[in-house]
Amino acid sequence: MPTVRFRDPAGSVRVGAWTDDGVSAAGATYPLDAVTVLAPTEPTKLVCIGRNYAAHADELGNDVPERPLLFLKPPNAVSHHGATVTLPAGKERIDQEGELAVVIGRQCRHVAAEDAMDVVAGYTAALDFSNRDDQNKEQNWVRGKAFDNASPFGPAVVEADAVADDATIECRVNGETCQSASIAELIFPVPELVAEITRYLTLEPGDVILTGTPAGVAPLTDGDSVEVTIDGIPTLAVDVRIPAP
Ligand code: ZN
Repeated sequence: MPTVRFRDPAGSVRVGAWTDDGVSAAGATYPLDAVTVLAPTEPTKLVCIGRNYAAHADELGNDVPERPLLFLKPPNAVSHHGATVTLPAGKERIDQEGELAVVIGRQCRHVAAEDAMDVVAGYTAALDFSNRDDQNKEQNWVRGKAFDNASPFGPAVVEADAVADDATIECRVNGETCQSASIAELIFPVPELVAEITRYLTLEPGDVILTGTPAGVAPLTDGDSVEVTIDGIPTLAVDVRIPAP
């Protein structure tokens, strides 16, 4: 059963199960509209992978990297399913990027690729909102990628083996499909990402790896609704606000 974190009608934060009827915890089931679905974890960081699908690297005029391209998002970038997320004002181009997200289950460092799935709690869906105006002008993509609300993820975490190696990932804007690919197209698959990241830094329980986005990114406009569906994972949905300058 997918695991979800939510605020119940009395205001308590609970961890429970995502079901067809809503969310349940401690013997009670709540319809989705009675609760606030929270991000499934409170990560100390999100480690993100750039250009991990060849067709996406190509659409932005970039080469495929020789090793995973890593960048970080801090906790302020976290947002959740059902949120209306406010993105930076006055930008010409903020794109959606739908991504498979890996949730880390325990503290780890120096994890070999063959042991990587032992430290993975499961998978969920994520968005990597990308402010191209500034990303294209800076090295470390702080304005471009690390702004508040830049990465809603969730709504629920499923066990890794609930997601097929060739699961379809799809992103829709206002109901229209703009990204559709197989996660088998990942240039660097999940075990290699865990190995490479933990060669340099410690991952903590609840930390999240965003594995990169397929082709089909496009500029968002104020009021758009964005959904990410990955076979085996409940759909992540948010609305975006892009204030006028
Ligand atoms: Zn991305």
